[in-house]
Amino acid sequence: MRYIFITGGVVSSLGKGLTAGSLGALLECRGLRVCLQKFDPYLNIDPGTMNPSQHGEVYVLQDGTETDLDLGHYERFTSSVLSKKNTLTSGQIYESVLQKERNGDYLGKTVQVIPHVTNEIKGRIYAAGEDADVVITEIGGTTGDIEGLPFLEALRQLALELEHENVLFVHVTLIPFLKAAGELKTKPTQQSVAKLREIGIQPDIIICRTEIPISDDMRQKISLFCNVPVKSVIEELDLKVSIYELPLFLHFEKLDDIVCQKLGLQTSTCEILPWENVVEKIKFPKNECTVGLVAKYLDVKDAYKSVYEAIAHSGVENDCKVNVEVIDAEELEQLSDVDEMFSSIDGILLPGGFGNRGVEGKILAAKFAREHRIPYFGLCLGMQIAAIEFARHVLAYADANSTEMVPETAHPVIRMMLDQVNVTKKGGTMRLGSYPCKLVPHTKAYEAYGSTYVNERHRHRYEFNNDYREIFERHGMIISGINSDLNLVEIIELQDHPWFMGVQFHPEFQSKPRQAHPLFASFIAAILRQKRR
Ligand code: GLN
Repeated sequence: MRYIFITGGVVSSLGKGLTAGSLGALLECRGLRVCLQKFDPYLNIDPGTMNPSQHGEVYVLQDGTETDLDLGHYERFTSSVLSKKNTLTSGQIYESVLQKERNGDYLGKTVQVIPHVTNEIKGRIYAAGEDADVVITEIGGTTGDIEGLPFLEALRQLALELEHENVLFVHVTLIPFLKAAGELKTKPTQQSVAKLREIGIQPDIIICRTEIPISDDMRQKISLFCNVPVKSVIEELDLKVSIYELPLFLHFEKLDDIVCQKLGLQTSTCEILPWENVVEKIKFPKNECTVGLVAKYLDVKDAYKSVYEAIAHSGVENDCKVNVEVIDAEELEQLSDVDEMFSSIDGILLPGGFGNRGVEGKILAAKFAREHRIPYFGLCLGMQIAAIEFARHVLAYADANSTEMVPETAHPVIRMMLDQVNVTKKGGTMRLGSYPCKLVPHTKAYEAYGSTYVNERHRHRYEFNNDYREIFERHGMIISGINSDLNLVEIIELQDHPWFMGVQFHPEFQSKPRQAHPLFASFIAAILRQKRR
């Protein structure tokens, strides 16, 4: 087993997750089996309880683990299907250490960061990737963070245990461009590497995020001051067209060669063509369309990360540049006439969400899509909104709602799932992870998937109320996907509409650049058909 550790320096948001994912992609292109994991130094057990405006989207794994959005990058860039073994937070470590202490497992010893906490961290690294050739572990945060220290210390110990064989440290850093001086600056990188070396970690490879290309002189300087060979100073320019260019850029910089050489990995040559094809499609699309994303987190793109990515993937699939226009759900509520807001929109997408804010605006968006025959795709809350809108304006249940919004509504077309009623704890208690869904033949969903059974990931507490199934169906809403074990409605679609679908799950978590999710692809295809008409 080989271990690659990815740390970050100077600032956060350097795109370490993308870098880790892209390196994973390159190693897979060389025929290696990779396993990626992310360690987050914060004290929350997982990001499931965090506000998306703080932390971005909560990405859900097949096994129901709620994780950091970087795991989404890992799954999109590689073929790995991740589980709770691939994610760790300080909160989980301390929870486990304290439980062991209460159980008396430490046999009277004083429980300390070294060795008890660091052992816990190393245990997770050793336990990862039984079937992999290479484990790539990304450490969240930035060198110098107090919370991150036990993680870095654990990496140092692990390298020592393995006598520095089969271990590689990659440090991702920023080379800022100072406008006033008119030049790039390497000092912050030197200092962040010095910080790492203080802990006892000498990086093997330095990946330099930069706005403009770094010169040979600059590479020499970084090499000298940071004590790495000059060929191991890798440039990572800001991406202009797409994040899926990154594997190509890093391959051009010979990152995969250097990694394989340093780790003594004999591999086939790098089969990069599939990634070139993706980028080619993104760069030279034949069509163009605009999707309106009706949202409540307006300035935080990361809050809907996987949705944006899934849209981009379906663009690749349909040879189409898909622009996304964010529509403020709360602003919609204030307007007497919403038509203006949708004037440049070819399709409407409602992502998942929680709570009351912006819900009435979202209902207006669904109404607009239904009445104007504009393709509509509702994800989780977006499906529930479509059901509420249909109940209000087609079935004339003026007060129809979800009990999440109005607990005592007279027409609870969406209600809390029965097994959720007595749940009081917040973390990890929703209906989470992958569940089977059976599709009904001759529906749009069935045609898009091209199969009868699919598995999709969930994250919700409320569901379609079966008491209303019959009347919905009688008035033209098709129930096209159900969970037969639990008798739950999973997909609804309008009979008399070019493409109007709501899904109780999150298809965006299973979409990949090289294999767009069938429903997203079908949504964009429907938009293009409408446009042509
Ligand atoms: N708030 C809704 C529920 O809990 C929808 C959740 C979501 O969109 N992920 O059921």
